[in-house]
Amino acid sequence: MVTKQDAWGRDNEGNESTLYTIQNSLLTAQVTDQGAALTAFICPDRDGKTSNVVAGGNSPDVYFDNPSYLGATVGRYANRIGNGRFWLDGKEIVLPRNLGSSHLHGGFRGLTRRRWDAEVNDDSVTFSTVSPDGEDGYPGKLEVSVTYRLENHILKIEYTARTDSPTVVNLTNHAYWNLNGSETIFDHQFECFSDAYLEVDKNIIPTGTILDVAGSRFDFRTRTRLGDVINQTGEGYDHCFVIRDWDSSLRHAATMSAPSCGRVMEVHTTTPGVQFYTANHFNGSPECANRNRYGAFCLECQHFPDSPNQLEFPSTALRPGEEYRQTTEHRFFTAR
Ligand code: BGC
Repeated sequence: MVTKQDAWGRDNEGNESTLYTIQNSLLTAQVTDQGAALTAFICPDRDGKTSNVVAGGNSPDVYFDNPSYLGATVGRYANRIGNGRFWLDGKEIVLPRNLGSSHLHGGFRGLTRRRWDAEVNDDSVTFSTVSPDGEDGYPGKLEVSVTYRLENHILKIEYTARTDSPTVVNLTNHAYWNLNGSETIFDHQFECFSDAYLEVDKNIIPTGTILDVAGSRFDFRTRTRLGDVINQTGEGYDHCFVIRDWDSSLRHAATMSAPSCGRVMEVHTTTPGVQFYTANHFNGSPECANRNRYGAFCLECQHFPDSPNQLEFPSTALRPGEEYRQTTEHRFFTAR
């Protein structure tokens, strides 16, 4: 049930944000209307000891600007659109470039830097917002909602969106996880059920080529200790894995485990891709949850980056009368 609602900081214009606590006998999730973000997630280890496994900001202030997208709902288009341009129904759409030559995570404001409306239900909180036609360069007035729900050992995140004229949509949650609280995620073990991942160029834009993971450092089809693969090349991950047999139904994308404490998190999703990001830019600052490089990981369930420019990728177009829906589940277990 939703056990608490606390005032949680004010933005520059004096608008107050709220922190909601959703709790059941096993799990506690904290979410805020500022960016519809997941700020903390508390779950037991194998001995029943609980701690927070989401790298969050110590103060609400971080969530107003939130340059690292800590826990945030990201959109209208999660990840990159190359050169901030694409064609849709015969019209060229030009978006602001907020990361070099690319458009990242919905632009300068996006769905992250705003206060959402909240509706509290028994075991869930639903945030909703309206992004006006033309906001951040996107066509169409977009009505978006995201629901955080606890169901036994599951954190369920459900998204919907509707538009009044043709547009593109790709929503995700950008929580940074660390299952055992250690300085890096090197002792985490990753298993990802993808046979393929997207090749990217130097700007991390997909080239359009889908590569087989076999024999590469992207092959996580058997459980792999992250420290081993990251130390081999000295490079982290910021890559989109292709969900095996994707058909819009809920698929088991990946499992992360932390053998030292026994926590296991499975990620199940309806999206065609999952972006694995190992907090490569973290530098210890409050905007990086006071953590350093490789101090957390994201598993961002989403459509492929740059899909509006890649006609071979599953379409992200949304037209009037259609409804965008996305469901992602984080299922928590413990192992001996
Ligand atoms: C992107 C990274 C980016 C990070 C923080 C991730 O989703 O893939 O390239 O640095 O978000 O913005």
